[in-house]
Amino acid sequence: MRAQDGVTGAYLLDDHHEMMRDQFRRVAEEVVMPLAEEIHRHDLDIPAAILEQVKDMGCFGISIPERFGGIQSDEQEDNLGMIVVTEELTRGSLGAAGSLITRPEILSKALLKGGTEEQKNKWLPQLASGELLCAVAVTEPNYGSDVANMRLKATKTEGGWLLNGAKTWCTFGGKAGVLLILARTNPDISLGHRGLSMFLLEKPSTPATPSTSPRKVAAS
Ligand SMILES: Cc1cc2nc3c(=O)[nH]c(=O)nc-3n(C[C@H](O)[C@H](O)[C@H](O)COP(=O)(O)OP(=O)(O)OC[C@H]3O[C@@H](n4cnc5c(N)ncnc54)[C@H](O)[C@@H]3O)c2cc1C
Repeated sequence: MRAQDGVTGAYLLDDHHEMMRDQFRRVAEEVVMPLAEEIHRHDLDIPAAILEQVKDMGCFGISIPERFGGIQSDEQEDNLGMIVVTEELTRGSLGAAGSLITRPEILSKALLKGGTEEQKNKWLPQLASGELLCAVAVTEPNYGSDVANMRLKATKTEGGWLLNGAKTWCTFGGKAGVLLILARTNPDISLGHRGLSMFLLEKPSTPATPSTSPRKVAAS
């Protein structure tokens, strides 16, 4: 408060983050809220009206450094920016907008920390532009949030890996073109989280997760 001469705004944000908050609050109110009820009531796919708007604002690249096509500075992470934008989009609707950018955030953070330069150069620009949507497959039906107990097994084969097991709760699993999958590469369960690895799996993007009834998209 002293650094900002007592002018702190309602959320103690600096000018840059206050501007982000205003911009995304407007998107939440003008674009997301009018569509949210229909999406929720009829379990619809997220319409292009929301996806394109969020894409145009660089939202998918919010946790990706500029050198890989994102909008985050190359010097340091901007977790506060991510929080502010997620909070505002979620104010509009968690299901229709708030969850959109948390998937690329998880994937890009994992890739920035543990990926090779080749992997970063291949995936991050596509994710940042929103041209490629992603999903995160960590949770398993029998072990829920107990990550160290995950059972989905990855076995090395000639020229690749065979992933065998079940995942659940994979938000945007249908629409995504790439999945980040947590798998057990060391079969010794006593190793817990130390026996696990992350895989990136390319897949066709489908309009929706499989459903027994035909799916619609909200009018936009
Ligand atoms: C709308 C939605 C979207 C989701 N999207 C994704 C996604 O995209 N990708 C993905 O991988 N997952 C996703 N999840 C899963 C989510 O991240 C959680 O991991 C999962 O819901 C927790 O598992 P569970 O429901 O089986 O609960 P459990 O793990 O069975 O936990 C039940 C309760 O027990 C508590 N508990 C669990 N273990 C312990 C412990 N050792 N000690 C004390 N308390 C404990 C928990 O805090 C909780 O209160 C999603 C979930 C929801 C609801």
